[in-house]
Amino acid sequence: MYSLSEILDSIQPVRKQIVIPSLLIDTLSYDSRKIRDGEHSIFFALKDQRDGHHYIADAYHKGVKTFVLTDLSFDISSFAEANFVWVEDALEALQQIASFHRKHIQYPVIAITGSNGKTIVKEWLTQMLRKDNHIYQSPKSYNSQLGVALSVWGLPNQADLAIIEAGISMVGEMARLERIIQPSWGIFTGLGTAHREGFDSKEQKLEEKWKLFRNALKVISAPINALVDFREPEKSPSWGYRDKDKLQIIDIKINNSQSDIRLRYQDDFFVLSVPFKDKASLDNMLTCTLVLLEMGYDKEEIQRRLMELKPLEMRLQLKKGKNNSSIIDDSYSNDLASLEIALHFLSQQNQYSKKKLILSDFEGERWTPKFQEKLQKLLSLGSLQEIIFIGSRLDNIFVSSDTQRTVYPDTDTLLQNIGKHDFSESVVLIKGARKYRLERLSKLLTEKSHETVLQINLNALEHNLKQYRSKLAPHVKLMVMVKAFSYGSGSFEIANMLQFNNVDYLTVAFADEGAELRRAGVQLPIMVLSPHESAFEDIVRYKLEPEIYSVRVLKAFIAYLQAKGLTDYPVHIKLDTGMHRLGFMEHEVDEMLEILLRQSRVKVRSAFSHLVGAGDPQLLAFTQQQISLYQRLVKKIEKHIGYSFIRHICNTSGIVHHPEAHMDMVRLGIGLYGYDMTSTALDLQEVGRLKTTITQIKRLPMTETVGYDRKGRLRRDSVIATVKIGYADGYSRRFGNGVGEMMVNGHVVRTVGNICMDMCMLDITDIDATEGDEVIVFPDLAKAANDIGTIPYELLTGISSRVKRVYYYE
Ligand SMILES: *Cc1c(COP(=O)(O)O)cnc(C)c1O
Repeated sequence: MYSLSEILDSIQPVRKQIVIPSLLIDTLSYDSRKIRDGEHSIFFALKDQRDGHHYIADAYHKGVKTFVLTDLSFDISSFAEANFVWVEDALEALQQIASFHRKHIQYPVIAITGSNGKTIVKEWLTQMLRKDNHIYQSPKSYNSQLGVALSVWGLPNQADLAIIEAGISMVGEMARLERIIQPSWGIFTGLGTAHREGFDSKEQKLEEKWKLFRNALKVISAPINALVDFREPEKSPSWGYRDKDKLQIIDIKINNSQSDIRLRYQDDFFVLSVPFKDKASLDNMLTCTLVLLEMGYDKEEIQRRLMELKPLEMRLQLKKGKNNSSIIDDSYSNDLASLEIALHFLSQQNQYSKKKLILSDFEGERWTPKFQEKLQKLLSLGSLQEIIFIGSRLDNIFVSSDTQRTVYPDTDTLLQNIGKHDFSESVVLIKGARKYRLERLSKLLTEKSHETVLQINLNALEHNLKQYRSKLAPHVKLMVMVKAFSYGSGSFEIANMLQFNNVDYLTVAFADEGAELRRAGVQLPIMVLSPHESAFEDIVRYKLEPEIYSVRVLKAFIAYLQAKGLTDYPVHIKLDTGMHRLGFMEHEVDEMLEILLRQSRVKVRSAFSHLVGAGDPQLLAFTQQQISLYQRLVKKIEKHIGYSFIRHICNTSGIVHHPEAHMDMVRLGIGLYGYDMTSTALDLQEVGRLKTTITQIKRLPMTETVGYDRKGRLRRDSVIATVKIGYADGYSRRFGNGVGEMMVNGHVVRTVGNICMDMCMLDITDIDATEGDEVIVFPDLAKAANDIGTIPYELLTGISSRVKRVYYYE
């Protein structure tokens, strides 16, 4: 905690009004939804996708007493009991305060940057060093300009080491991060092709990233080109295949489930074995090894610690639990920062009203009174119905009297007593350190899962949402299409996330999809694309808003509302400007208006149309024709009904290609899920990843055939793997006989023979694989779609509902 005046000394206000000078500050806040302890917080009105000034009132009501803002004309008259400080740039002020805190830190701070593997390297280093060090690591992937500042602000006064992740996407950003982190050591994980857009060249990108290490004493580096080597040779030891790499790879032998790597470090030759074999994990492991060697650990000790690492790409996971429950499984690490993120994720889940927490003791934390106090505070704010503690130290932690509290000495005792607890109709967060092996608990509470799963990356979803938001002017509303089970990705799991991120509207195809979202606590307005008369009852009961596409539907809905005695019910008028699917044609608009004008049962909330080829340059003239026809029709409707409504026509590709047609709202669909085949303007991330496993491996002589009808002919003696995915899972028969490509251990392999109902076979002759290995079904979804003459939409929505969806969040 710092005094307010100390903090204000570290920034340069252009104006200030201080009415409560003696405050102690321990939280820098920018999101009014997350404020826990207003009095000790400073709220920064950042101008991001949303203008933080709009949230000042909310923050004020949550007890915040100090605000940093930029807008000089902001009216503060209704916030008498608060300090206001105006600055040029609110984010920069926040960063300066973090930098001020950093200057008080005595222990070494390691900064990690690079294109790939930052988070994994951070996690692994923490795992490897935790035994004999008290380590602070930046939470999950808090690596942006804002995230880094918050991570640095979180540096505890006492620790042995801090590890902070830093990422950039534009020139000029790294120098800012350097001033905040002031790293003692640096780690560079390599230069990939991600986020290339913001840079002219690879060299420029490297040069920019290296600025982070300007004042670092040492920089441990993955192989890169010569540029860095000649610039700072003694300061930056690297690993790689070259003689001049300080840690040189002699060779790598890959066996069934482990890799043996022969290495030279200075004059010493030795072999290290690790329990994984994919290239990314090996790269990350070499980086960690070199860091430990440079810290003075001996190779035997490093070997011991390496064997305990697990390649983990999924962190917090949301799964379907038994007896109507949801399980959030975060049983892999435990510290206050990640606990806070997990509790926050828990609070976003609206599908069941009861929230419960199972929490293990913390590993490697000093059990100071301050720590206990922080933990207690965190737990008392979550409005939890039940907390189950594992570990006797937690006996000292008391929580609100509304929360049922039980303490077990260890996980086994909890497992024996699990029947005493009722998790039905609840969302349960399982959070614990690895050592407590809480995955046993999560297995017990979740539904058995088929080996083929669709992993949904909720961070990628949020990332894509931000990418599209950045294309919209501030007044443009965002409607998100969650029809067809959110393009195959899930229902309330996705909708909760979108609701939390303040989208304006959701759209489903049918009323029952909307009803399901409402039952799961989603409160956003929901449009229904094709409402059938039989669904009117559900529409009204669940406050859904129908699309009205014909005179017949309009009359029927008005009649229904009349019978129910309802007025002003919101509806959406669909205009057909060329798609010729649903909607009023131009010549039907007069009749529609006549009906609308004679009644007060429905009220037009929006009128919209749909573009047939918004991203296709060859259809540009047609698109423009659609847009102008739409505008003409909308003007006419507006003139006659005499009130305004939301106008919208753009889908995903329209958002990017036709900014002039955004009007009042856009309808985002496939782009949210990571695909836009018509543009590369945005840096989209893949949201869904379909995975299965190898069930059996066979060695077959050339004379044999594989699968039904002897279609799988072999050209050579072959190794064939059977995997558990077939056409009943949504893996089309058209992928048979070499058309389909899957990825096994980093290699692309092809199908052999016909695709069966629940299984299919892969030719793995040229690669190394074992039974149980993981298989990525669509390493390149757009290519896969193209290979069988379809589009990503069909592949995504065709993944059968028997394939379990597992959601994860970092
Ligand atoms: C599905 C749909 C969209 C979204 O289309 P994308 O190409 O996935 O962005 C938009 N509007 C309507 C009417 C739709 O049916």
